[in-house]
Amino acid sequence: MKKVAVIGAGPAGISASYELSKRNFQIDLHEKSDMVGGLARTITFSNSRFDVGPHRFFTYNKEVEKLYVDTLGSDAVEVKRLTRILYNNKLFNYPLSPFGTLLKIGLVGAIKILFSYSISLFHRIILRKKPKNFEEWVELNFGKELHYKFFKSYTEKVWGIDCKEISADWAAQRIKNLSFIGVILNPIIKFFKKKKVKTLVDQFWYPRLGAGQFYEKLIKKINNENFNLINQSELREIIHDGSKITKISLENNGSKKDLEYDYFFVSSPFTKIAENLNPKPPNEVLESCKRLNYRHHIGVKLLITGKTFLDNWIYIHDPNVKMARVSNYLNFSKEMSSNQDQNPLTIEYFCFESDDVWKMSEEELIALAEEELRKTNLINDTNKVLNGFTVRSLNAYPVIRKGYQEDVDNIKNFLSKFKNLFPIGRSGMFKYNNQDHAIATGLYAARNLENLDSKIDIWKINSEGIYQEGEIENKI
Ligand SMILES: Cc1cc2nc3c(=O)[nH]c(=O)nc-3n(C[C@H](O)[C@H](O)[C@H](O)COP(=O)(O)OP(=O)(O)OC[C@H]3O[C@@H](n4cnc5c(N)ncnc54)[C@H](O)[C@@H]3O)c2cc1C
Repeated sequence: MKKVAVIGAGPAGISASYELSKRNFQIDLHEKSDMVGGLARTITFSNSRFDVGPHRFFTYNKEVEKLYVDTLGSDAVEVKRLTRILYNNKLFNYPLSPFGTLLKIGLVGAIKILFSYSISLFHRIILRKKPKNFEEWVELNFGKELHYKFFKSYTEKVWGIDCKEISADWAAQRIKNLSFIGVILNPIIKFFKKKKVKTLVDQFWYPRLGAGQFYEKLIKKINNENFNLINQSELREIIHDGSKITKISLENNGSKKDLEYDYFFVSSPFTKIAENLNPKPPNEVLESCKRLNYRHHIGVKLLITGKTFLDNWIYIHDPNVKMARVSNYLNFSKEMSSNQDQNPLTIEYFCFESDDVWKMSEEELIALAEEELRKTNLINDTNKVLNGFTVRSLNAYPVIRKGYQEDVDNIKNFLSKFKNLFPIGRSGMFKYNNQDHAIATGLYAARNLENLDSKIDIWKINSEGIYQEGEIENKI
């Protein structure tokens, strides 16, 4: 029986293990922490549940959706989405609604938006200008005014770099379903449509007990005596002979262990996969690793009494506060708290290790989050903070800086010479993608072991979790 090591019990690693377990493999799933679900896990605290950050589930991949809904069964909840943007002390619907925006921004503001949109049309259609970065992409599609009001501040909080430094591909990928004309026409279309169409905008799936519940259930579904989940087992070194990986070195509760396997599915950060190789890769590959960086994430978790906002989450465009997004899990599922008067909130900060916010202690972060919630009036004197804790996630967001693709390709080409090594998932492939993409990469990479000659190229799974080369047959 062939032996497989899967690194990381997040969405990608669990999905790969699940798919492999249907075949004749001996599978060890190594997870450095003591929880499953990775960035999509759910943490229980003080009779409440908190995700790392707000996690809605939506996919265009029918197979992935079926796996999600079938696994959750009656625990799958359809949530009606309400998300808004906090800008200038006012809450604007996101995606923007034309009438609500007009009311809050006033006639002069609306004229400015229309004027700057007409200029963008002129640049895009008449001058045929092509965007070179995120800022130009948004300005060409929405106009300068909307960019400054509703895109720039939040985007820069998340990425920590100027919008001009962010790749235009990323905007095209993430905001492509939204257009200026679409925003204007949406309410009219909705009014005339008899049947309400389910879209990314309107609703999403969520497990009754938090995003992580799906992964807890999926791992339980692996009904195979040849599958082992090994917690507190961290990949440290990947040993190779130049053409294949021979063994890996893992640290488990302070002790080091070398283990041999036939295949390796790795969802730990992409750059670390290359850096952990022994012997080391050539210098140009290591240089590419240094140029690619990840943004870290801090979720400050507060349990707050009383009535708060109704949104699933709110984007904070106010540049005077550091927090970027605030969510209330009671607005995802009533079972996220045992007491309906106690709201489990996450206040999110994005940072690099050198940033002040990363250096703050847990107490300082809790105090900062409360202060910023009060300053922006998202909570008031009737709300009391009962309790809190913080969750720090290193390498949570691969930074899609201009020119990053060249470095990704460099590393990818080098790693591809190891025929038994398969990077999977979001960090593992340096892709800024959602759960459905991570699940699809795990499932399809595992399926490749069925027939190594007719491989599914998992790098061609797009941000919507769809394999761009067509239908995938489930042979396993
Ligand atoms: C704040 C936030 C909000 C998000 N919102 C959404 C959303 O609304 N909808 C959505 O679909 N997606 C969302 N995502 C994205 C989603 O969480 C990821 O796409 C998904 O978790 C990626 O799965 P993964 O398995 O590739 O990686 P991860 O979830 O990162 O899992 C990797 C696992 O590997 C483990 N690991 C890492 N290194 C090692 C090592 N050396 N040895 C052993 N184990 C290791 C980690 O501990 C982790 O458990 C969000 C992410 C964040 C951070």
